[in-house]
Amino acid sequence: MRILSGIQPSGALHLGNYFGMMNRMVNYQQNNELFCFLVNYHALTSVFDANLLRKQTFDAASDFLALGLDPDKAVFWVQADVPEVTELTWLLSNITGIGLLERCHSYKDKTAKGIPASHGLFSYPVLMAADILLYGADKVPVGKDQKQHLEVARDLAIRFNNTYGETFVVPEPDIEEDFATVPGIDGQKMSKSYGNTIEIFADEKSLRKKIMSIKTDSTPVDEPKPIEGNILFDLYALFLDEKGKADLKERFITPGLKYGDIKKEIFEVIRDYFAPYKKERDRLAGDKKYVMETMQKGARKARQAAAVYLERARRNVGLDYNN
Ligand code: ATP
Ligand code: MG
Repeated sequence: MRILSGIQPSGALHLGNYFGMMNRMVNYQQNNELFCFLVNYHALTSVFDANLLRKQTFDAASDFLALGLDPDKAVFWVQADVPEVTELTWLLSNITGIGLLERCHSYKDKTAKGIPASHGLFSYPVLMAADILLYGADKVPVGKDQKQHLEVARDLAIRFNNTYGETFVVPEPDIEEDFATVPGIDGQKMSKSYGNTIEIFADEKSLRKKIMSIKTDSTPVDEPKPIEGNILFDLYALFLDEKGKADLKERFITPGLKYGDIKKEIFEVIRDYFAPYKKERDRLAGDKKYVMETMQKGARKARQAAAVYLERARRNVGLDYNN
């Protein structure tokens, strides 16, 4: 099965990215054809500082490699190194109803948060559909926030196939219920652009500070703590198996639990979980040449895979006028 997903180098990668997408991608590489990429064209919708975009792209590449993404097993590249995707975006744009894009929540959420209401941000889902269809992906692992965008991609694949003849694979979303929406320190969806993230590779001091600043309710210590919608419970649970979660639940409903103690434990769990990867991450950060060569090699592989679908699409819409 061909599995594909991308992540924006729009900021430091966080627990939501890790559990919603990155960790699942790394696991998939064992038994599937994995396509994983850093969507820097998409990041241009919210990052307007060229040096920052460069740095964040490099950092995201190091992050993935450190987490165990194997560039020999998977195709791992930077989106804009295969600019053909912008051509497919144009082909798809002409069968994309404006109403379809107007219904997308993400555009409304982001503009409400102060991200400029640009044409790029509005047509973000079309570029994302092109990303998916260009590589013939069967399955796309994402967090719940991307469910609607996946529906747009499916819609466009079906519409294109109906209009011009069989061209694209219709992709399936792959959302893991336990990790569908990781909450940020303010309780909203953890997002790079919301400034509410817990970074996976933060240094110890800032990690501690972040965890300590998580919003909690004011339930007195000697009363049972709520589970539903409790940010601390949800974050801790990410790292626990079913038995661990049941035990944690027991602790929350037993009077006497101090949120401060739980915060300290969460800090330690996150620090220890990512510690071995962090070492590798720091090593890779100093090996720019290796990271760059790896991404370039990945782009060559991605470009070959893309040519199949792009040629077919060009032909089916009639751009091959000499035939
Ligand atoms: P931005 O705020 O710039 O949109 P982001 O933090 O939402 O950044 P993306 O690059 O948009 O991250 O998303 C990368 C992947 O991570 C997607 O598959 C997305 O569904 C997933 N993801 C992002 N945030 C979360 C979250 N809080 N919980 C689960 N999955 C998430
Ligand atoms: Mg996002």
